[in-house]
Amino acid sequence: MATALVVAALSWACERNEPTSMPANVPAPESPDPHQAMFARGYYPGRSGQIFFILERGDVLLRKPMGLYRFMHGGPWDYDRHIPLIFYGPGFVTAGARTTLATQQDVASTLLSLVGVPPVATMSGRALELGSVGGSADKAPGAVMVVVLDGMREDYLERYRDVLPNLTRLVDDGASFPDTWIDYLPTVTSAGHTTIATGADPRIHGIAGNGYYDRRTHETRTLFEGLQPSNMMVLGLADVWATTFGDDSVVIAQGTTPRATVSLAGHGRCRPNGRAVILAMFDYQSGSWTTNPECYVLPDYLRTSNAREIWESTERSFRDLTLDSGRAFVTTDLFPEFQIDALVSMLEQEQVGRDDVADLVLVNMKTPDYVGHYYGPDADEMREALAAIDRGLARVLETLEAATGARGFVVAVTADHGMPPEPDLETGRARRFIEELLEAVHQALDPEEKRLLYDYVDTANLQLYVDDSRRRELGLSLDDIAAVVRGFSYVRQAFTENQIRAVAQDSLR
Ligand SMILES: [Zn+2]
Repeated sequence: MATALVVAALSWACERNEPTSMPANVPAPESPDPHQAMFARGYYPGRSGQIFFILERGDVLLRKPMGLYRFMHGGPWDYDRHIPLIFYGPGFVTAGARTTLATQQDVASTLLSLVGVPPVATMSGRALELGSVGGSADKAPGAVMVVVLDGMREDYLERYRDVLPNLTRLVDDGASFPDTWIDYLPTVTSAGHTTIATGADPRIHGIAGNGYYDRRTHETRTLFEGLQPSNMMVLGLADVWATTFGDDSVVIAQGTTPRATVSLAGHGRCRPNGRAVILAMFDYQSGSWTTNPECYVLPDYLRTSNAREIWESTERSFRDLTLDSGRAFVTTDLFPEFQIDALVSMLEQEQVGRDDVADLVLVNMKTPDYVGHYYGPDADEMREALAAIDRGLARVLETLEAATGARGFVVAVTADHGMPPEPDLETGRARRFIEELLEAVHQALDPEEKRLLYDYVDTANLQLYVDDSRRRELGLSLDDIAAVVRGFSYVRQAFTENQIRAVAQDSLR
């Protein structure tokens, strides 16, 4: 009798816990499929979805209507995952291309090693060999700068070399790591910037995507709402820097959108013993620089700067893009100059690199991403945007050189993710739409009510969010849903949440 009760209770528990328990038919693989392992490195419970899938190489997943998004990154293919990584710093870095395989997680540990500071426990990257003479606080550079070129593919360096004299100089005179790859999925802005700035995997820092589906309010939410850093579960380079070097060090984060700026700034004073570092985010709604004063500060001299007059007064015309908003403005080569003006004024006014304490500047440059989303990686507009960034970079380097003098400085340039090319229709590749994918799953499994899957807005996530009560009503398992998704011609692989969780944590180290 007692045994029967226990068995009944256990089977009831299994039934109730099914979404999160590990079914017996999913073995924990010793060497997981590479894409399964990448999803596992980017998996965070409660934020990630229940079905994870990747498209065939060359297919692109979008929403209707396309608007400013005609190309979408997020997947595991070379064009999304292969990124530049360059460290430049005369006296600190020996010139030459390195054959080492590198990841975004290596950036934070490498930069801390330049100033003689050990990484914190959550940083899983390695300190890359730069051939440096630094590595101690008294031989540290006067300033360290991280430049994240948003959506900058590794091959742009070669393809657009003719308009990138300054980036090319950094490659030639710095330590470049041409074999740098993102090792998690999805490959999106939030996860990329946070991984670079914290040196941790998304499964550890928690910024597992640009957002998540909120099952209580039935909305797509982002992870940095209100410019709040609280969803970032670890300390970033900026936090460690501010604590280690104290109030005499300047720490600045500049970018466009919360996901690409708060991620770089760390927690500011919104953590124990933190301090209000500078966070200057371009808000394309208002055309001005903004911050979250609860955690960060915005310098007064940036408050008067507004881009609206630039986009309202320019005579230039753009291919089928009307320059009538801040969102359009950041999709043109006009934006980098506006951004660099603000950056250079911060470097000068805050006296970055001018005293004995090493300063830290983290910058996101969004334009290559927006241009890539709208025009694609092969467009003339990409060439023009990168050329504008390259001209701006020259001004930044001059400013740092003048400020740091004999102490010198180090600049790291990398990217959060890449961008797919135009789909090759001849080989069957195409633009796919999330609405059609959801409809096809519903046709197969819930044709009457079509409630099985929620509509999560961000297609770059490559995840589906399942209504579990509806799934149980229909008597379905996640494996049933994954099997249907796997059957679509443009889907290469699909995994369930249980399969992602089953990846041994040890295999991700
Ligand atoms: Zn993007």
